[in-house]
Order: sequence, then C-alpha cells, then structure tokens
Amino acid sequence: MLSCQQSVEVDQIFYNGKIFTARTADEFVEAMAITDGRIVAVGSNEAIKRRFRLSAGEPIDLQGRLVLPGFHDAHLHFWGGAKIQRELDLGGLRSLEAVLEKVREAVKKARPGEWIIGRGWDHELWPQKRLPNRKMLDAISRDHLIYLKRVDGHAAWVNSPVLRVLRYTRHTPDPPGGKIQRDRYGRPTGILFDKAFSLLDRLIPEPTYSEKKTLIRQAIQRANQLGITSITDNSSDEIYRVYADLYQTGDLTLRVHFFFYYPASFDTLKQLLQQVPPIAEFLRVGPIKMFADGSLGSRSAYLLQPYQDDPGNTGLPQHPFQELLERVRAVDEAGFQVGIHAIGDGAVREVLDVFAALAAERPDPTRRWRIEHAQVVDSIDFARFQQLGVIASMQPSHCITDLHWAEDRIGQRARYAYAWRTFLNQQVILAFGTDWPVEPLNPMIGLYASVTRQDTLGFPEGGWFPQQRIRLGEAIRAYTYGSAYGVGAEGWSGTLQPGRVADFVILDRDIFNLPPQQILQTRILETYVNGQKVYPVDRP
Ligand SMILES: [Zn+2]
Repeated sequence: MLSCQQSVEVDQIFYNGKIFTARTADEFVEAMAITDGRIVAVGSNEAIKRRFRLSAGEPIDLQGRLVLPGFHDAHLHFWGGAKIQRELDLGGLRSLEAVLEKVREAVKKARPGEWIIGRGWDHELWPQKRLPNRKMLDAISRDHLIYLKRVDGHAAWVNSPVLRVLRYTRHTPDPPGGKIQRDRYGRPTGILFDKAFSLLDRLIPEPTYSEKKTLIRQAIQRANQLGITSITDNSSDEIYRVYADLYQTGDLTLRVHFFFYYPASFDTLKQLLQQVPPIAEFLRVGPIKMFADGSLGSRSAYLLQPYQDDPGNTGLPQHPFQELLERVRAVDEAGFQVGIHAIGDGAVREVLDVFAALAAERPDPTRRWRIEHAQVVDSIDFARFQQLGVIASMQPSHCITDLHWAEDRIGQRARYAYAWRTFLNQQVILAFGTDWPVEPLNPMIGLYASVTRQDTLGFPEGGWFPQQRIRLGEAIRAYTYGSAYGVGAEGWSGTLQPGRVADFVILDRDIFNLPPQQILQTRILETYVNGQKVYPVDRP
C-alpha cells in the first residue's frame, strides 16, 4: 500500500508490449511511462504499474505488439520526394487502359493549359507490350500538357501540345544524347528518349510557396504513416522556411535536422538562421553538405583503381585535396557540422585524409563528422572512421538496388561495398536512411535489405556478399539511435529510455520472430511524436 501512495503521476502508460529500446541491439522492455512528451521510465509491466499512476484515463494495453523508437531517416531529399507526389503514379499498372484511365481522371481535375505529369508506366507490363503514342493522349486532351515518364526515366510519352512546346516536327533532328521516335512519315510519335525530353523538367512551372507547403505537409503525413518521426533533410534553404511555417500551424509532426548546402557565404546562412531561428527539438541545423564525388551507376564515383567495366576511368573527384580541406576547415571554423557525399573508395579516402589533417590542426572530440553513402571503402580505411570519429551515413536500400550491376563496376571491391558488418565490427556508428526519392521512403525496405542483402524478390539466393548482413536489432538501432547520433541528438532522441522524447511506433507484427520477407509486408499501426499520436489521426 505504501508503494501505491508514493506512485508518481504521469500522462501516459503503455504496457504489455515488446518494446525495443535501441539502447543496445537486443534490449526489450514491457512498459513505459510518459509525461510531457518525454519518457519517464521503461521496465517490466509490474515495475511501471507499481511506480506510476495516471492523472486521467486508462493505461494503454499494447497486447504484446512490437514497439520501436520512431525511425529517423538520416539522409533524404524531402522536397524532391514531396514534389513527385503531385505527379501521377503510373507504376505497376498492367494495361494501357488502366494508365489512360488515371490520366483521364487527372485531366478532369486540372484547368486547361496545366501540366499533367506522371511517372512509372511500363509497357512491358501491358498485354500487347507495345510503346504507346501521342494520339492516345490527344484523345484525352489537347488542352493540357501531358508528360508521362517511363519507369526507368529514360523515355517519356507526351501529347501533341507538348511536342509543340518543344517545337518538335518531322524536320527536327534528334538532339545530342536523345532520340525522337518517329512514324514512317518521320513525324514524332510522342515517345521521346533521354535528352529529347529532359528539357521539359525546366519548362514545368515551379510550385508556389503555398503549394510547396501543402506538398511538404502531405509528405510529412506520409512519413508519419511509415513510422518516420525524424529526418535529416537535404533540401534548399526555402524548404527550411517551409518547415518553420508548418511548425507554427501545428503541422510539423516530425523532427527535422536540416542539411544546408555549402553556402556561398556563411554570413548569409547565419542571417537566414537569425531571421528564421531553429526550433528546439523540431527544426535544427544539421550538417553542411559537400560533395567529394558522383555516383557508381554513372561511373562518376571516384575510385582508387579504375572501373572494372571502364578501364581508363577512375571517376570524378569534385575537389582537389587542398580545396576540399579549405572548405571543410571553413565549415568547421564557422561552427557547423560537416557531411560529405563520398561514394567511391578514392573519395572516401580523400575525405578521411581531410578529416585527419584537420584533427591534427585542431583536435576537437565533439565533432560529428559524417560521410554520406560510403558505399565502397578500401579495407584499410574502415578503422580510420572509428579513429577519427566519422559517422557512416548509409542507405541499405541502395545495396539491393545496385547489387545487380555493382560487381560489373567494381569487381572484387564489392566485398567491401555497403559494408555494414565491417563498419559495425570496427565500432563505427552507422546512420541509416533512404536518399528518398532515389529509393522508397519506407524504412521496412532498409531493414529487409540490412538483414538479407537480397532484392525485394529474394535475389540472389543467400544474399549478396552475405557476410556483410547485420542483425535486425542492429539495423533498427542504426535507423534510430545511429541517425540521432549522426546529428548529435542521441542525448534526447533515438532511443526509448528515460529523458528521451516519446517518439515511437507500434507495428502490426513482430518482425524479430518472422522470416525477413515479412518485413516488407509490415505496417505501422500507430506513430507517436512527443507522446502524441500523429498516425492515424482521428478526424472529427
Ligand atoms: Zn542524397
């Protein structure tokens, strides 16, 4: 009775769950108590019930469900992803008629003269497997500009008004790097390849500021639905303002750590931050973004040795060493964190060399240096991440997209590509994300990729370089604690333990006890940010 009288009043109690704390890769508790949006305690059902009581309402019975800290996507392009939400999603449609029906619906909702933009159609999925043409779209509307990109992004299907905008006639030669498909009279059919349509993206009007706000708000809701409660975002400065505005209206239901691109001037950046100050725990200044190289797919990632499938080429370093060093020093001296895109082993080494030089100049153990992607790393460089305190910000889904061709590019070096196991064995902090919209936003795909190293159809059997697989608990920890650590926020977010913000998700199944294929089907039942349910939202 005495303990009952001494119990502490809290706002919420969740009990009877399987709560993964992410404090380690395998710690679970049954219950947690929450007050003012923060976790007060976690522990057994009995301990929590003994120590705490509610000011109002009933404790919530989790019915044995799995609870995880909310996901923190450590690297994405939120505006890039939000923007494509306004495009028609034609992916996976299995007939021409199904695609045309979606276009018809969109046309009905649009004003004459507006663009109808779509993506994802794939004629290989249609029974007749034939490329479509402009006439099919003209029959729907000649008053709208219809522009539909194929699933691979290398072809577009447009109607006649778009051909007129481009001034493509039977007399137009193919532009360099592109191809205009033609009928037997030489007239454009409405199918354009590569550079023949890439110009269109610049002709489409930019959304207004208020449209941007709407699109970002919708993307936030979608992220919440997928269990995402924090992001480290690479978007333009204007989007930083959008977040600040959305906070004012109560629509910022995830925490944003904002990458700023290497600025023309630090004074201008500091002015912006004075005009639009960060909002504690909801809108924070993240790293300054720089680039050391390009990408593996386009053979512009900078490698120590030439590409396996392009013997004269080692890729494209973005800066000579000295220039990168000066830039990183400038960021460091201005008091910002540094995050550098480096994909090839040459770029990764260059960045590590820069960090080592600066650490020697001015030691500062509180720095949180990051390398974004770190896809190919020379075996001798892994230990340097740990020695220099460099965080590996990686996207597991890139691995299962790239595994189909990565060995062609890098041969033997693939053993140390997307090398999560090697990083963890070296005690390097992994921060996981998606690079959305390059990869899908759903964190489940990243978790599945981490534990299988197979594409979503299960290829290859046994996994691609399976020695680099990691355990589910480790992957979730990289996606929560690791991402928080990556922006210096692990002291108040990223794990479920006392003092941390109450950001968590309830899953529809226990993925710790199911075959990995089930991870892909897993749904989020509820998402909480700061102790408030943000998904699903009860509508009045
Ligand atoms: Zn990116």
